[in-house]
Amino acid sequence: MMSKKIEITLTTQKKDKPDYNKLGFGRYFTDHMFVMDYHTDKGWYDPRIVPYEPISLSPSSMVFHYGQAVFEGMKAYRTEKGQVLLFRPDKNLSRLNTSNERLDIPAVDEAFVIDAIKKLITVDKEWVPTAEGQSLYIRPFIIATEPYLGVRPSSEYKLIVILSPVGSYYGDQLKPVKIYVEDDYVRSVKGGVGFTKTSGNYAASLKAQTEAEKVGYAQVLWLDGVEKKYVEEVGSMNIFFKIDGEVVTPALNGSILAGVTRDSVINLLKHWGVPVSEKKIAIEDIYEASKAGKLEEVFGTGTAAVISPVGELKWEDHVMNVNNGEIGPISQKLYDAITGIQSGKIKDEFGWTTDVEELATIK
Ligand SMILES: *Cc1c(COP(=O)(O)O)cnc(C)c1O
Repeated sequence: MMSKKIEITLTTQKKDKPDYNKLGFGRYFTDHMFVMDYHTDKGWYDPRIVPYEPISLSPSSMVFHYGQAVFEGMKAYRTEKGQVLLFRPDKNLSRLNTSNERLDIPAVDEAFVIDAIKKLITVDKEWVPTAEGQSLYIRPFIIATEPYLGVRPSSEYKLIVILSPVGSYYGDQLKPVKIYVEDDYVRSVKGGVGFTKTSGNYAASLKAQTEAEKVGYAQVLWLDGVEKKYVEEVGSMNIFFKIDGEVVTPALNGSILAGVTRDSVINLLKHWGVPVSEKKIAIEDIYEASKAGKLEEVFGTGTAAVISPVGELKWEDHVMNVNNGEIGPISQKLYDAITGIQSGKIKDEFGWTTDVEELATIK
């Protein structure tokens, strides 16, 4: 078992803080990062918090050639009382190990890494934004670092956690986006790596995204990779539809990412008594519902935007208008509930939040 002690080296040159009114997403990074190494002979070792700085890697590091890399994304929020809360970090860490397992990367000790993240945030606490809608984005990632060009799993890895203060995704208003239903490129297939957060999935999605943007759409809605008939995800978010009073989302089928926000939405809807189900959803049926005037709301879910309302879907020659391009009541209610729990404004009845100062495994 690895040593639980985290060595901390503080920076001697704190950076100037960016303008918190113009944070955007993922542009600025805090003063420190968490790093831990792996070697087949030692397991995970040398956990440490060090100044945020460039890392040095051999050009033959396996990650550059064969893409053995996984990541996570979560956020920390400051409450009105000045506490800093994490939202369901256990879900992110267990998903990191799901991704690790599929990419043949060694598992990490989930509770230990959550504690390490909490320590890192505590060290960089002054970077956690205070304004409404802002948060500290947390990006843990693992890369294969062994210098070797043979195709096999690496024997060495680095886990790094970096932190970035981020603004509210949409500013004050939740603005519905226009979505292009992609029926040429596919994101993933069952048996592949679609259910993991691995870098290659995102590299493979960029061209479709660029082409959708060229014709005026913000994101693509992915269909299944075999028949291109069934809805899967929207951009890098999960997708929900409200049809004739019932909320539906694609069932987790091996090619869809199991979003933490998706799971939270399902739990909240059940808690409120709103009918919700996970199933196979044909794009044709969405179109039929739209024609019949029964497509009431469409929204994406993900850590970055939380709830992202969809105002228009374009599939082949069909343009489906959703709720006159305005945010629907369920989308708004979910957004308010989730961001309320995350920021400590609403009582957390689900036990989803944890204070960064509560450590489970290290002191
Ligand atoms: C991260 C991600 C999501 C959303 O997951 P959350 O845990 O809610 O942030 C959905 N789809 C893809 C492809 C993703 O990468």
